[in-house]
Amino acid sequence: MRMAELGRWTNAIRTGLATDSVHGAVVPPIHMSSNYTFEAPDRPREYDYSRSGNPTRDLLNDALAELEGGAGATSVATGMAAFTLLADALVPAGSRVVVQHDAYGGTWRLFSFLAAQKRLMVDFVDFNDPAALAEALDREPRLVVVETPSNPLLRITDIRAVSDAARQVGALCVVDNTFCSPLLQRPLELGADVVLHSTTKFINGHSDVVGGVVVARDPSLHADLRLWANALGLTASAFDSYLTLRGLRTLDARLRVHDENTRALLTAIAGHPALSALHHPGLKNHPQHALAARQQSGFGSILSIELSGGWDAVGRFLEGLQVFHLAESLGGVESLVCHPSTMTHAGMSEAAQTKAGITAGLLRLSVGIEGRDDLIAVVAEALDRAL
Ligand SMILES: *Cc1c(COP(=O)(O)O)cnc(C)c1O
Repeated sequence: MRMAELGRWTNAIRTGLATDSVHGAVVPPIHMSSNYTFEAPDRPREYDYSRSGNPTRDLLNDALAELEGGAGATSVATGMAAFTLLADALVPAGSRVVVQHDAYGGTWRLFSFLAAQKRLMVDFVDFNDPAALAEALDREPRLVVVETPSNPLLRITDIRAVSDAARQVGALCVVDNTFCSPLLQRPLELGADVVLHSTTKFINGHSDVVGGVVVARDPSLHADLRLWANALGLTASAFDSYLTLRGLRTLDARLRVHDENTRALLTAIAGHPALSALHHPGLKNHPQHALAARQQSGFGSILSIELSGGWDAVGRFLEGLQVFHLAESLGGVESLVCHPSTMTHAGMSEAAQTKAGITAGLLRLSVGIEGRDDLIAVVAEALDRAL
């Protein structure tokens, strides 16, 4: 019998379906047990203890490894736990890390704290400044941390160029792929060694789990990361893994609506007099539009706006704003608005915020999957108020 070869996405969303041999459940049951019996003292089964391995977590790992095209995935408690895992497993004490200067505020804080403790040496560098990047790589880092598109200004880093340059000095390159998800960008195919996600965002997509994952290209690197995640005790819970896999199954459908809504909203608000800037890689006037079009297969649904009226205008924009909740996080089905300077990026020093371009008038929008016309109407009203 001839059988069609199924695509990556179909395989990923079918992970674990109809594998229950006891009842024939279509959806794989959740395994909450912390421990597993041994058949005999010298005969463990596949699983012994849920910190080291759990069947529900492994289904999520399988699906994410398939989507990113990696040798294996390691799901951990949060996105920051994923960075902690990489820092502990891959960077010997005292060695150097290069981090994109406008990385997520929590990433900036973690690496700043590790540097302050003298655990690591950290250079925060503008990856779009080739001279600065070359200088940092000359100092022989062990790990290079890329986040693209960046948060909150949607700057794009050339993954292939940076991972090639990292490889030449013997550094591993990790790409935080949280904003795109594996459906819009596949960093391992562009040369990265490890992909990281805050699965809290698009992958789970329903704002009811915090989680993270690292996916390694190379099997031995994956084996190391899995061992370290167990040793450090960072692994994700069965319940979170169950919910995240459930969310992942609708990722493609969600992203299509996110995309449709974002395009329509951008078209509707571009050129509004209350705006001094509109940041989104899908806009033709985004300085790296061509690079984004080349390395991503979609532009995503996170955008940021800069109000010319600064902090006062931010107050007027938010006062009475409908639908968009003022909250941190992004990538859920619901629309959110955030003021990076006082919220997500408050952990960044004022000097670092200024350098990264995070001003008092900047707002980040995570465009949800509500009705398109409603989203346009409420943002247009808010911009009129902000004038
Ligand atoms: C949210 C986020 C993180 C941190 O993830 P948590 O799950 O909140 O720990 C890291 N990187 C990016 C780009 C994020 O948006």
